[in-house]
Amino acid sequence: MEIPDIYGKFDRIGCLTFATVDNGIPQTRIAHLFAFDHEGLYFRTMITKPFYEQLKKTGKVSVCGMFPETSVSHDEQGMPRFKPGYTIRATGDVREISFGVLKEKAASNEMFMLGVKDTEKYPAMTTFCLFRAWGEVYDFDYEMEQRPHKLQRTGFCFGDMRIPFRGVRITDACTGCGKCLERCSFKAIYKDGQRYVIDHGRCDVCGDCYKICPVGAVEIVIEEIQS
Ligand code: SF4
Ligand code: SF4
Repeated sequence: MEIPDIYGKFDRIGCLTFATVDNGIPQTRIAHLFAFDHEGLYFRTMITKPFYEQLKKTGKVSVCGMFPETSVSHDEQGMPRFKPGYTIRATGDVREISFGVLKEKAASNEMFMLGVKDTEKYPAMTTFCLFRAWGEVYDFDYEMEQRPHKLQRTGFCFGDMRIPFRGVRITDACTGCGKCLERCSFKAIYKDGQRYVIDHGRCDVCGDCYKICPVGAVEIVIEEIQS
């Protein structure tokens, strides 16, 4: 996925959760992205807000949102139900953009004009660019109304960031008993010859295979940078 597609997914949602860290304590607020270009994704805040202070101090942000519905309904058994949709998140590095640079961008890209007008109206406003990030689109259809599996996860990155792998993996200790394949309700496990393999695009990292494997052949990977 390229920056315009990533922006499009966020823009459809509108109001997003922006997370920062303040002296080791996580903090969130609702804001939105207002523009993109080849350098990254853009959002605004005021220099008087704690959000600004945290962005300047850490240079980091994490953004996420959900489409099309954020409410949860329940079935007769009280189990949660979600309308098919997607969540998207991106985590990475930010830099502040001067008003001069914002005006230069607005001269050739109408999208940035909103930022210029808003900053003229509210002089304490400033713009940040998320210029280096990795993230994921988590497309869900838990009741399998529109396709035969629940999940489709698509990773993305831009800047010189790479996508880390975090999840579960079947190791060479696998004896081929097939219990995990039978158990996986996400249809994320398949057989490749004699080997059992996890399709990470479909895997929810729910842990069922990890718990059911009789020989401990499913390993948890905390983080591994992919090439
Ligand atoms: S349950 Fe364990 S041993 Fe059996 S197929 Fe799955 S990974 Fe292999
Ligand atoms: S963690 Fe859950 S979703 Fe992923 S392969 Fe194992 S059982 Fe399937």
